[in-house]
Amino acid sequence: MPGLLGNAGLSAGKSRLSSLQPGPQPDTWLLDAEPEAGLLRRCANLDSPAACNWLLPADDHNALCMACSLNHTIPDLTITENHERWRKVETAKRRLVAQLVSLGLQVIPKTVDEDTGLAFDFIGVDLEGQAPTTGHANGLITLDIKEADDAHREKSGCRCTNLTARCSGTSATRSVITTGTA
Ligand SMILES: [Zn+2]
Repeated sequence: MPGLLGNAGLSAGKSRLSSLQPGPQPDTWLLDAEPEAGLLRRCANLDSPAACNWLLPADDHNALCMACSLNHTIPDLTITENHERWRKVETAKRRLVAQLVSLGLQVIPKTVDEDTGLAFDFIGVDLEGQAPTTGHANGLITLDIKEADDAHREKSGCRCTNLTARCSGTSATRSVITTGTA
C-alpha cells in the first residue's frame, strides 16, 4: 500500500522527503523510503504557523525537530501577518539546516551548547516601535520578521532572495549572514 495521501515528512539528518506509514503506536510513523530509520513522530510545530514537516525519533525527549529547536524567539503570533512571515522564514531555515547537515556539518542548538551553538531570534518592533537590529553575534542570528515580506526587503534596499543568506537592508551596513560560518 502506498503512503497515506497527504502524509509526508522529512527525516532530519537525511534531507529526504518520504511518504509515511502509521507506526504501531499512536502518532508514530515509519518512512516508506527508509523503514530502517525506525519509529518517528512529527515535530510539534507541524500544526503551528511554522508548518514544520520534519520528523524526529519517536523516543526523543524533545518535542521539536532539530531545525525548530534552534528557535530562541519566535514572532508575536497575535499579529496575524506574522503567521505567514514565520512560515516563510521557517521554510528557509529548514532548507539551510538540511544543507548544513548534508554537508556533514553539525547543527547544535544554543540550548545544548551556549558557546558554539546556533539560535535564531525572529522578532518584530519593540514596545517603542523600533525595529530590531538584525545580525549575527556568537551564533545568535536575529532577523526582523518583517523582512520575510518581499516588499519590505525591496523597500529597505535589500535585493536578496534567499532569506538564509541575507543582508541587513541598508547599503552602508550591509552584511551577509550565513549561518554556515556561525
Ligand atoms: Zn520542526
